[in-house]
Amino acid sequence: MTAVERRSPWRTPEARRTYVSAVLWIAGAAAVLLLDAPDTGGWLRVRLDGPGVVLLCAALIGGWNFFPKAVRAVQGLRLDMNFLMTVAIFGALLIGEPIEAAAIAALFSFAELLESSAVIRARRAVEELVRLSPERASVVREDGSEQSVASSELRKGHRVRVRPGEMIPIDGRVVDGESSVNQATVTGESVPVAKEPDDPVYAGTTVIEGYLEIEATTDAGDTTLDRIIRLVHQAQARRAPIEQFVTRFARFYTPSVTALAAATMLLPPLLGFGGGLDWFTRGLTLLVIACPCALVIATPVTVVSALTTAARHGVLVKGGEYLEALGSTCAIAFDKTGTLTTGHLTVSETEGLGNRSPEEVLALAAAVEHRSEHPIARAIVEHAADRGLAPDAPVSDFEARPGRGVVATVDGRRVQVGTPELFPEQPLPARFIELEESGKTVVLVADDGRLAGLIALSDGLRPEAPTVVEQLRHVGVHEQVILTGDHEAVARSIARSLGLSDVRAGLLPQEKVAAVEELKARHAVVAMVGDGVNDAPALAAASVGIAMGGAGSPATIETADVALMADNLHMLPYAVRVAQLARRLVRFNIALALGLKLILAAGAVGGVVTLMVAVLVGDMGASLAVTLNAMRIARMRA
Ligand code: ADP
Ligand code: MG
Repeated sequence: MTAVERRSPWRTPEARRTYVSAVLWIAGAAAVLLLDAPDTGGWLRVRLDGPGVVLLCAALIGGWNFFPKAVRAVQGLRLDMNFLMTVAIFGALLIGEPIEAAAIAALFSFAELLESSAVIRARRAVEELVRLSPERASVVREDGSEQSVASSELRKGHRVRVRPGEMIPIDGRVVDGESSVNQATVTGESVPVAKEPDDPVYAGTTVIEGYLEIEATTDAGDTTLDRIIRLVHQAQARRAPIEQFVTRFARFYTPSVTALAAATMLLPPLLGFGGGLDWFTRGLTLLVIACPCALVIATPVTVVSALTTAARHGVLVKGGEYLEALGSTCAIAFDKTGTLTTGHLTVSETEGLGNRSPEEVLALAAAVEHRSEHPIARAIVEHAADRGLAPDAPVSDFEARPGRGVVATVDGRRVQVGTPELFPEQPLPARFIELEESGKTVVLVADDGRLAGLIALSDGLRPEAPTVVEQLRHVGVHEQVILTGDHEAVARSIARSLGLSDVRAGLLPQEKVAAVEELKARHAVVAMVGDGVNDAPALAAASVGIAMGGAGSPATIETADVALMADNLHMLPYAVRVAQLARRLVRFNIALALGLKLILAAGAVGGVVTLMVAVLVGDMGASLAVTLNAMRIARMRA
């Protein structure tokens, strides 16, 4: 944020000139209307009596907001709104219409203020999150004493005490105490989350009833909340494709209408159609209409409002183009493990084949899985540890086969754990098929190429998943597909509980990419939801890649196009709705601004739209309507 933006737009020198200009304009116009017969105009007929001087001052003081910039525009051979307004103000004075000249100066200045204020307000809404953070923190010293420290001085490793009702000043890990915490500022969800030792906590979230002692895991200024704010600012700075289109359009619109204005001023009198003054006034009115202000502001003001509103609900959208994509999504692909399911798998059955004992199979598998990050691996290692089967055999040559399994040398033997595809020449044990049909994820364990046993795992459906699928369908995302590396039977049982029918199972990571490409061939815009790390290629292939669990994983926030900060799907339908509304409003706003201008332009040439109407409706009115429309997004509830 620049220093200028930090200042309220209503307190700048431009704003003060606007107020003075507006007051003088109203006073001058009132005086003319009350004291005098209204001036009918005429070449150079500004009477320099009391009201005339007041109006002249209004025009020049308000106009000073445009004059210097107009000079620069002329030097750069650009035709911008500052130039147009300057010409319009002097033009109105030239034809003896000081009330109109003052109106142009005051009202255009006011419209400019309104626009920058709307954009700045939306930007600030994100900053307010941080401004809520506590100024000071209670740090526990080595000797157990407590010291009050400015929150900005907190460093990684500091132990911080947080009392009931207080806000946590830094990202950290709970080392002592228990409490529920309201994480709405980060995840958008106000349902309290229980925290106990070893759980992560985030700066800007509020401790509800308990007392927590936390150890900082980041320095001040580098917390998840800081990162969110930085990313929202970056997102706001990016221009949506439609905005670039409007900018290009304005580059054609403004000169065209200006040329039309010049033609209106010059041609009819030269061709002998009536007096010069009348046509000059009509041309001047066109010049005012040529200003693209409301048109140009229509997109950014809406997009910024939407990005900020989403961020406040725990949805980080990385820019207007992704907002646009999210709002026009017609097909969505879900990863299964960890996305539709919790990803916290538990081992439900271990079986030895031949003369192997289940313990032996579990110990072998755990030895290899120790090296893997996969949810299956975590479940197997945990299960083995619970049974006191701590792996102590030496493990070497570990290799992960993404989407298939893992291989390593344990005690000189080659041990493999994974899907049947790893063992193409081995017949499948009957028990494997039985377990799979019951909806379990089953992996085989082999020892020097011979099957040693199998391990069945179950994974719970996320409780919110059925509602989310339903809500997405309700907002028009009709095609919903499950992509998984797991087996058909498991995937089908998940799909059944969700009421989905389209399942692509047994996919390798690159096959998930192909599945997304295939969806893209049939649908204009395809979203993919997955966990940011495993599914990165498929997320990148989609029109918009959505990752969840952003609060716990910085990598996820950085790589996804849209990051759901909470580790669940609750906010996904909301995010789609915000994006859809933003998309509709952008289009509506552009149509409104353009339609209004075209009608006014026609009216101006025809002589039925006066200079005053053009200023009031064409600029002030259009800017106000567009801005108020954009504000509607901020009021959208989850
Ligand atoms: P998903 O698409 O459901 O997230 P993955 O592509 O990560 O699944 O994995 C697909 C399949 O590969 C798993 O169902 C499992 O059978 C096997 N697999 C992958 N990694 C491992 C591992 N570390 N240990 C055992 N099996 C694995
Ligand atoms: Mg996965």
